[in-house]
Amino acid sequence: MSQPNVLEAVLALHKPVKKWEPYEGAGYSFNTREEALRSGGEEDLGTVAIEAGPQYFEICEECGRIESEQLSETGEDWGYRESLWPCPTVAAIESALKESA
Ligand SMILES: [Zn+2]
Repeated sequence: MSQPNVLEAVLALHKPVKKWEPYEGAGYSFNTREEALRSGGEEDLGTVAIEAGPQYFEICEECGRIESEQLSETGEDWGYRESLWPCPTVAAIESALKESA
């Protein structure tokens, strides 16, 4: 494999996916805006954040898969500690590409 193909293979795995919070800072999230909207409807805190509606943030699909599998073994909640976008893998590639440019 030439180097560009190696990068493509890694980047095909490590790509951003959206997670939706019912409102900013909710502390839990869903895979779609619709799910977040439905769950947020039960909250009645009346804050500005809730009125703004569902917000998304991005995580790395592959790092998120690994992180959630590890946590499911220990029973801990998934807090996206290692999988927030850009993940360490993508950040390392981007920084290396910048240096070689
Ligand atoms: Zn990743």
